[in-house]
Amino acid sequence: MEILADVGGRPGLDCKGFCSYCYFRGVKSVPPFGCKHCMPFQKGCDYCSRAIVEGYPGFKPMDAVAFEVAGKCMGSIPDKVVISGGGDLSCYPDLLPLTKMLSQGIVPVALGYTSGKGFTSANDARALVEAGVTEVSFTVFSTNPKLRRQYMNDKNAEIALECLRIFCKSCEVYAAAVLIPGVNDGAELEKTCRDLEEMGAKGLILMRFANARDQGLILGNAPIIEGITPHSVDEFREIVTDMAARHRLRVTGTPLWDPLTGAPFALARHPEMVSLLPPLRRCATIITSRIAQPLLAAIFSQMGEKVNVLAVNKDVGCLITIEDFMDLDLSEIKDTVIIPGRTLAHEKEIKKALGRDGRERIVARGPDRLTVDGEMSISMTEEEVLDIEREAFEELIEAINALGV
Ligand code: SF4
Repeated sequence: MEILADVGGRPGLDCKGFCSYCYFRGVKSVPPFGCKHCMPFQKGCDYCSRAIVEGYPGFKPMDAVAFEVAGKCMGSIPDKVVISGGGDLSCYPDLLPLTKMLSQGIVPVALGYTSGKGFTSANDARALVEAGVTEVSFTVFSTNPKLRRQYMNDKNAEIALECLRIFCKSCEVYAAAVLIPGVNDGAELEKTCRDLEEMGAKGLILMRFANARDQGLILGNAPIIEGITPHSVDEFREIVTDMAARHRLRVTGTPLWDPLTGAPFALARHPEMVSLLPPLRRCATIITSRIAQPLLAAIFSQMGEKVNVLAVNKDVGCLITIEDFMDLDLSEIKDTVIIPGRTLAHEKEIKKALGRDGRERIVARGPDRLTVDGEMSISMTEEEVLDIEREAFEELIEAINALGV
């Protein structure tokens, strides 16, 4: 059993200042999007009005975090506790005592994303390792302290990097970097990969920078950095492939791609496994993101012509909002429509948007996840990825066979 210890905190404000590329920078108040958790008659729930924008009032007191964890454990000892939050973990004032309390010298503790900006000396990392930290997701951005100072607002960049080095010696470390063209790509990225390799990091997750709504910035704050055009999807895929080929650490990308497992949609490269999926008996249209569309279409085309797959004008499926449905041409949409499970829009509004041509359609959410992105696949084997996808596709086919026409 893996338990989440959520320490709360606000992006940027509880991070010793905003990173220049932070997706939460410049976000004002955002009206609720609507989502799968909302009541049918009411748009807006805790998830889509608060959790999406990481709308915590600040860090939670340690006692409150410990109390929540105890409630989740229900008397048993968890296999692992993951400490995570909306702010930066290294800025959480009670990170060390909380780690000690949660681990008790027995339970391994993982630190969800930390940038290390709040560490004040290398001893912070040593103490956390001694207290039970065995796994760390570390936002490195670059191993060049100058770039960290300039783009992450990290006044103690050398200390953060020293902490990273210490974590790498004793823990499983997955580093992450939002990739900004002309800043931390090219020779800088090469150096970062070499340094991480030498430090002993397990992997590097490259995150494609988004600077526009269709790339995934849905909080009304685009552009985040004026004048920057993010890498195209193809450029990004090439960078990930290249770095993975030339370094002895796993390198994956998000929202795509993992050269080792073939995720996302590794099934697209395994027709022999697609042929073992349950048969499709009914027709439907699947609506998805621009990135997923060609891969999903390749999988479904192996099953005949009952399902067509259409893309909205958005790169990431779980960031699809109601505007994306309004922009869709309805002429190719069948009477049953399956949308991504985590679409950020309310049922009533989606139905209305997909019935603009006067045709009443059945709209259903598919599984929350049909595949995994690089953030998840970095610690997985190809077989594990394919297992997840096979199960999710079976669920999707079952939904089409039940609701399709
Ligand atoms: S550390 Fe993460 S959450 Fe905090 S400002 Fe930087 S990008 Fe945003």
